[in-house]
Amino acid sequence: MTTSLEPPAVLDLGRLLEHTTRGLAYADERDGDRSIENVLLSRTDSETSYRRTAMEQLLCGLCSELPERTADGVLWLLPLPTGAPDDPRWDGWPEGVRTTEPPVCLQHATPPRAGVGHRVFYAAEAELVGVHGTLHPAPGVLAAPVDRMLRFDDPRMHWMLAHSYVRQLHRLTPANGQGRTR
Ligand SMILES: [Zn+2]
Repeated sequence: MTTSLEPPAVLDLGRLLEHTTRGLAYADERDGDRSIENVLLSRTDSETSYRRTAMEQLLCGLCSELPERTADGVLWLLPLPTGAPDDPRWDGWPEGVRTTEPPVCLQHATPPRAGVGHRVFYAAEAELVGVHGTLHPAPGVLAAPVDRMLRFDDPRMHWMLAHSYVRQLHRLTPANGQGRTR
């Protein structure tokens, strides 16, 4: 066999990214390039960057206000599952749903298209469980980067370039019938 088992020292991931012994990194890494869990974050537009901040700090995803909060928890506007393989429908939805969408204030709890494909819920638990982003293959693995959600404890996290934070919502209460959230 003539195939080398040595992985290339640097893969073509664009000029900002290079493989190191620890995983993906920016050649010129700076403050703000890593998440609180040390995951590499994509350098992105200000809107995506703000949504990450809103998700991390629990702010409304559409303004910088605090989200609506009651005894039932924090308000979320959730898209219905599409039924696609990566977004299946299930009995009991949305209990346990994982979302990249930050919570919302009352003013922004209105679905983008009146009542179509969204529901409004309060979540009593909203744990930050991981990230969604582009998972790159480890050195020596011949595969294309793929879109993935990974939990923070996933060993592949070293090869992840994260675009969004993911929270998992539990103990959900429908907000329908509570006036302005309809
Ligand atoms: Zn808002």
